[in-house]
Amino acid sequence: MTPPVVAAAAVELVRSYGSGPGAVRALAGISLYIPSGRFTAVMGPSGSGKSTLLHCLAGLDRPTSGQVLLGDTRLGELDDAALTRVRRDRMGFVFQDGNLLPHLSAGENIDLAVTLAGRRPDRAWRNELVERLGIGNRLRHLPSELSGGQRQRVAVARALLGRPEIVFADEPTGALDTTSGRELLGLLRACVDDYGQTVVMVTHDPLAASVSDQVLLLRDGLAAGRLDRPAPDAVLAALGALTADRPAPRTTVVRA
Ligand code: ADP
Ligand code: MG
Repeated sequence: MTPPVVAAAAVELVRSYGSGPGAVRALAGISLYIPSGRFTAVMGPSGSGKSTLLHCLAGLDRPTSGQVLLGDTRLGELDDAALTRVRRDRMGFVFQDGNLLPHLSAGENIDLAVTLAGRRPDRAWRNELVERLGIGNRLRHLPSELSGGQRQRVAVARALLGRPEIVFADEPTGALDTTSGRELLGLLRACVDDYGQTVVMVTHDPLAASVSDQVLLLRDGLAAGRLDRPAPDAVLAALGALTADRPAPRTTVVRA
């Protein structure tokens, strides 16, 4: 097999919050690459930097230092207008909380990214998305009239409608029941298998991760391993090992 093309990459990425003794390094110099046309899951303990990594890769957050590449494009070299265009034309992002515009209906939210880009939504694809996500009877409602799971599914439809080359999703199944979660994962998988898109999904759920082609493990803002085509129990074991071999907390008294 030929090696995969790199869809996106992080090179020695640092993202710090605050300064002085209270500073937090959400990303501590992480380097990794996201293969094109594959489904990558990102996992790790809470606070390990998963959301920060996704936001930096998607150009929603600027790293403190280091580089983000989208294909050959160095995001750090783009001004805000150029970055906005790249995000609009090439990326889809599913936020953990949906992040829908409150005064627009679900249907208007779905069409937003595509219409802002001056394109016309592909009606057949829109209908299929809405159908598969089970939100067809919700399109006229405002986000405040939807459940958390419905908002999440609207956010997914919005991210997928324009068929972006890369889709980032931050815990997209977090608020879903098992059946809608499975349907959503099938849809993301189809984006990769049927349309050659690249998917990067943060998840806590080993079952969700097992639909991916590879799992990237994060700990303390650094890459901590990679699993290829992982089975759920292998994911569980790897996550367990990540937390088990942590250094002891500084407050622990070690007796000789
Ligand atoms: P994860 O998604 O893996 O749970 P995050 O990327 O959200 O982790 O956060 C990584 C670390 O950065 C955590 O310690 C978190 O508290 C911190 N952090 C994230 N966002 C901010 C922020 N806006 N201000 C200060 N600290 C933050
Ligand atoms: Mg997070």
